[in-house]
Amino acid sequence: MKLLEYQGKELFTEYDIAIPKSYLAKNHSELSQVADKLKFPVVLKSQLTVGGRGKAGAILKCMKKEELEPKFTELLNKKVKGEYPSVILIEEAVDIGKELYLSLFLNRGKRTYSLISSAEGGMDIESVENKVIQDISITGLTQAIAESIGKNLGISGVTAESFSNIVIKLAKLVREKEAELAEINPVAILRDGTCLALDAKIIIDDNSIFRHPELRKYIQISELQEQAEKSGFSFVELDGDIAIIGNGAGLVMSTLDIVNDAGGKPGAFLDFGGRATTETIYKALEVISKLKKVKAILVNLFGGIVRTDLVAQAILDAYKDGMISVPIYARISGAESDKAKQMLSNSKAKLFDTVEEAISSLVQYIGLSK
Ligand code: GDP
Ligand code: MN
Repeated sequence: MKLLEYQGKELFTEYDIAIPKSYLAKNHSELSQVADKLKFPVVLKSQLTVGGRGKAGAILKCMKKEELEPKFTELLNKKVKGEYPSVILIEEAVDIGKELYLSLFLNRGKRTYSLISSAEGGMDIESVENKVIQDISITGLTQAIAESIGKNLGISGVTAESFSNIVIKLAKLVREKEAELAEINPVAILRDGTCLALDAKIIIDDNSIFRHPELRKYIQISELQEQAEKSGFSFVELDGDIAIIGNGAGLVMSTLDIVNDAGGKPGAFLDFGGRATTETIYKALEVISKLKKVKAILVNLFGGIVRTDLVAQAILDAYKDGMISVPIYARISGAESDKAKQMLSNSKAKLFDTVEEAISSLVQYIGLSK
């Protein structure tokens, strides 16, 4: 999983690696909420998973407030390598003396971490000159080694101290978050000689994300949707606040109709087409957990193909892991449904004998919560 720059920088803050003061805005109303707090000049940075934003014109400097709105609009509408930004990072500009390059990556072939540093950062790593590549032990990274890295770059004094601190903290981050890559390009040397991370590129090992529930919020809905499709179910996002999970297109469509007739507004539906396991239902709930607008989930599963106890287990796991907190209204008929009922009896999931009862109760709950 590739983190966006601002997400990487959130981890930097957690690890006490200095970054510029910044704000996020997804749209004009969010922009107007932060506009008055900004100290100009600021740099607007399109949040994209692709690199080379500087060259593509997706990083724009605003000298004064009047430039903010038009440049923000320009970035929101600018596609880079097929990608539109989901959000714009607004950073107070810093006065840069010099730019360095630093990255740590998992060197699978060598079964170790390697560190790349260069006194000439700022551009693509391919064109960074005088790279120094060395294998390091991130578990035994000593102050002395971190300092020697700075020395190789020809920096000294407060800059060397500040840089080696970043190396040590980044190594800690990489180890604890199980990152495959953490790159800071550039590390900016400020006029006072201290170092600051101006950019962040972090890739977390997909196979280890299950060990990091705190990183789950960074999984993008498009990635989840892709995974969902790989798991064999279809997912469609709608405008309302009720998520519907069902098995079979016909059942899901008629469930949508009943919800609408009862005055509810579907916000998404997921169709399992029968291949429901604990894992796929959990994945479905994970997709739904990304939709902040969802206030309640309706599960309508019918037929002997579904092992309802497996569905119940996924629901229990999702609550236990803190992935979802909204109530689930379920009609689950199929094999082992008595066992499923018993499993869910002490959870936030309520079971009903008919889908009409489940929907009527759900719609009533949404009405009360408004
Ligand atoms: P990338 O092109 O996607 O790697 O984006 P970066 O975040 O690395 O920004 C590209 C370049 O923009 C940097 O190397 C800097 O030279 C410049 N830049 C970014 N933020 C600032 C800032 O706050 N002040 C100044 N002076 N330059 C900046
Ligand atoms: Mn960069």
